[in-house]
Amino acid sequence: MKCRRCGKLAEVKLKSHHTGFCRECFLIYFQRQVKRAIDSFEMFSREDRILAAVSGGKDSLSLWNYLLEEGFDVTGLFVDLKIDRFSDKARSRVEKFTADKKARLITVDLEEEGIPLGEVIHHRRRSICSVCGQVKRYYFNHTAYQRGFKAVVTGHNLDDETTRLFANTLRWQKQYLENQGPVLPSESKLVKKVKPFYRLSEYEIAAYAYYKNIDYFAQECPFSKGATFKQYKSYINSLEDDFPGTKIDFYSKFVKFIKPSLKSSQKNKPVFHFCPDCGFPTVADKCVVCRLKEEIAQPQP
Ligand code: AMP
Ligand code: ZN
Repeated sequence: MKCRRCGKLAEVKLKSHHTGFCRECFLIYFQRQVKRAIDSFEMFSREDRILAAVSGGKDSLSLWNYLLEEGFDVTGLFVDLKIDRFSDKARSRVEKFTADKKARLITVDLEEEGIPLGEVIHHRRRSICSVCGQVKRYYFNHTAYQRGFKAVVTGHNLDDETTRLFANTLRWQKQYLENQGPVLPSESKLVKKVKPFYRLSEYEIAAYAYYKNIDYFAQECPFSKGATFKQYKSYINSLEDDFPGTKIDFYSKFVKFIKPSLKSSQKNKPVFHFCPDCGFPTVADKCVVCRLKEEIAQPQP
């Protein structure tokens, strides 16, 4: 196959676009896809200070790399979950990347916060995954708000986004569907959240990371997301194999045509108030972080 742009030998084959690119042209294509996402949703501008949540994995390190190369005013944020060796290894990749790029990094250490997740798990019977997700989102927002960042960017890609949309659609999870999309606008003490890689598949980001020599952390969390999520991902990918273009079509048409109509149900949206302990928004009596701090302080039965 020949590169669509220059006619040289194609190295990256993109079935969903019925095309392929050589290395140089792939990087141009990649840059255009991210630019299109940022511009069409007015995610942020060059004047804005933005906070990139980086886990050490390929998506978030690639995104941070992209934003640095494009000259955005971006700072990294790593939440050290304190899940044994897993977190240590992720942290060292993030710190190495920060030093190599002479970038700025903020680290939130959950041990210092009093809720190391490796220990919290012994205090809870429920799956740690949903708690972990909520705790991370809390600190993304808390850090961005306290330090005056305009937006939080995360490395969610097209595969993550379509799989979540597929799962939420199968069950018509209206509440979750309302919150899906490349942008969650700011509201009260909630800082804007954006996903500049939503148009790019895992494969495309892996190719970018490879070309840019990004030394990322590939290990899965020992308490990783349930098997169901992975199974849904494989269904979506086999649909994509048979009908290239399904993923981006499914997702972008949802955002364009379906999501606006869900606005009508905004009146049923759970109202948030402010956590009595930390003052940040929550829909429960207390926010997840303050509840966990309380739980872990109590002696185990
Ligand atoms: P995940 O929920 O693990 O699929 O991660 C989704 C996105 O959240 C990643 O692309 C990162 O932008 C961000 N993220 C995940 N884990 C961390 C972490 N420990 N510290 C900072 N950002 C994270
Ligand atoms: Zn709180």
